[in-house]
Order: sequence, then C-alpha cells, then structure tokens
Amino acid sequence: MDTLLATANRLQDVFSKCDMAGVEVNLPQIVVVGAQSSGKSSVLESIVGLGFLPRGTGVVTRRPIVMQMHHIRNQDKPYVEFAHMPGKRYTNMDEVRDEIQMDTNRVAKDEKNIKPTPLNLSIYSPDAPNLTLIDLPGLTKIPIGDQPQDVGELVRRLVYKFIRPVNSLILAVHAANADLATCEALEIARDVDPEGKRTIGVVTKIDLMDEGTDAYDVLTNRTFPLQHGYVGVVNRSQANIERNVSMEQARNAEEEFFAVHPKYAPIASKHGTRYLTQTLSCLLKDHIRNCLPGIREQITSKLEEIRVQLGKLGWEELDARFGVGTGSASLMISEADRLALEAELGGGKGLS
Ligand code: GDP
Ligand code: MG
Repeated sequence: MDTLLATANRLQDVFSKCDMAGVEVNLPQIVVVGAQSSGKSSVLESIVGLGFLPRGTGVVTRRPIVMQMHHIRNQDKPYVEFAHMPGKRYTNMDEVRDEIQMDTNRVAKDEKNIKPTPLNLSIYSPDAPNLTLIDLPGLTKIPIGDQPQDVGELVRRLVYKFIRPVNSLILAVHAANADLATCEALEIARDVDPEGKRTIGVVTKIDLMDEGTDAYDVLTNRTFPLQHGYVGVVNRSQANIERNVSMEQARNAEEEFFAVHPKYAPIASKHGTRYLTQTLSCLLKDHIRNCLPGIREQITSKLEEIRVQLGKLGWEELDARFGVGTGSASLMISEADRLALEAELGGGKGLS
C-alpha cells in the first residue's frame, strides 16, 4: 500500500492543520463489489497489508465490514478495536478474524445467512491512512442453506447502498477464471458510476486460469473498456494462507508471476497489488483536488469570521477563547504546506 499510504498520510498531515478552523476533508471510502469467492476480501487484505478478514470458499463475508483505518505515530504494532467492544485492543490478527466470525454468527445466526447490519472496526497502524475500506458479501443468485429466497436482491441492495455515495471508490472484482460478460459487479458499478470516474476493475485469480487461456484482452481494457481500466492481481491461494505465506512473500511472488509470464511480461508494470494501490492513490488525489475549492472557501470564510472578531476583541481575549496562538495565520495552510500539497497533487492546478 506504499504509495497510497504515503500520499494519504502526507495529505492528512497537511489537512490536520486545518482542523482548528473546522475544515474537514472526506477522504474516499474504498468498497469492493463482486461475485461470491471472487477474491474481494483477499484484495482488501492485500491493500491493507494485514491478514485479518475471513476468507475462503462459500458464503464467508456475510455482512458489511466497515474498516476505519487510523494513522497513529510511534506505535510498534498495529492493533484493531471493534465498535461493539470499545477499549479492547487486538494485536493478533487471527483473533481479529475469529471475533469477526463470532460476532457475525451472533448477528446472523445461521451460518449461511447474510445480514445488512455492518460490523465496524478500527485499524490503528503507523502505516495506515485515515481511510475507510468496506468489505461486502458477494453477489449471488441462488439461495443456499437458510438464506431467504430473495438473498440475491438483498445483497444487491446492500451493494448499492455502499457504492452510491460519490466518495466511494468502487473496486469491481472479477475472477479471471469466470467470463467477464457475466460480471454483475461491472453492471452495477456502471449503473451508479456511468462515466467510470470512480470504478477500477480488479481481475483476481489470474494464476488459476485454464491452460491455453489468458486474461490479456481483459487486462488491456479491450473486452469491456473502463475509464480506469483493469488491474490484474494474484492473491494468496487458500493453500498459501494455510501455509502461512506472508503478505510480503505473496506480493513478491505476484510480481514474479507477471514478470516472467510470456503473455503478461510486457504489461507487468501495470498489474499487481502494488500497481493497484498506486492507481487508488491517483484517484485519491483526484478526489482531494476536487474537494480543494470547497476547502479553500471554508478556510477563507473562517478567516473572515476571525478577522471580524479580531476587530471587536483584543488579542488576549481572542487567544484565550479560541486558542488561535500567534494569530490568524495559524488558521491557514502555511506556505510550506501549500507548496508541499501542490507538489503532491501535481503541477498545473495550484491551490491559490
Ligand atoms: P470473496 O468471497 O470475494 O471475499 O473471496 P475471498 O477473498 O474470500 O477468496 C475466496 C478464495 O479464493 C480464498 O480461498 C482465497 O484464498 C482464494 N483466492 C482469492 N484470490 C485469489 C487469487 O488471485 N489466486 C488464487 N490462487 N486464489 C485466490
Ligand atoms: Mg469476502
């Protein structure tokens, strides 16, 4: 998640300085959509770099899992806290997975049942940006076990609810060993984001394709073109998870897979989890760039408000009441931060 983290953290650092002026930036939330077992939870885990989500075959993710990531400083080990158990810190990711499963069982009762009530957890890590990631149950058609007859519709409604907000970046996940023409995730994503401004296609399980077949046309955006195209990934297989293959080992193996593959080698630099996080980083920058005029307006009007108050009050009283310190300059993004932010967001579109 290197680039995404680094970018989001730098931006967050700059924006945190605006907090005292009541200026807020809604960073995008990243939502995964796809068929059951297409690899959605695996993709999110690779983005976060921590293995704590239930994954496997069948109905595994049975309710929305809303993960709020918090950037912390000087903390050795990442930890997780659940909203339903405030104050209890989990540092062992296996225990986090167990708790997700146990709480899901408490809420959903039957082991195949799907519930719309989200499970909320917070991830605290020095490597985390202040972002929200949402894992969702897979799109499905045929009810199994005690699932209601309309389970397909239930999941669709749930998916729409999370991908409709414009600050949701949609990861439309498709397993390479299925036909793209049957990909419901793309259809739903196009419905809420017709221009494809906030949708990225993610093609998983490229390592599992039948011999003699490949995903070249899909990966090169020829089959069903998307504005931001498709990123191919190779997540950990179930066997690798059971063998405790680490996230880092999996990332290296994935890079190797694309680099030496006769068909994918020429396009290898545009695929893999690392490239996916870079693409997310670009979309994140676009989002923030779009927010900037609004933020500027908020800062300017706050500043004006303070200036009016300044006219009425003496400095000491103002300082005591609002803690503005050395004066109204502290309510603005400093020149150095402004320049850093401009550099971060790329040239041509200055903040002033
Ligand atoms: P979800 O239901 O869409 O969340 O899918 P999961 O992330 O739970 O993955 C389903 C199964 O597919 C798990 O056993 C994963 O280990 C496996 N899997 C996911 N992505 C890949 C991949 O790219 N390659 C391989 N070989 N297995 C994968
Ligand atoms: Mg899942």
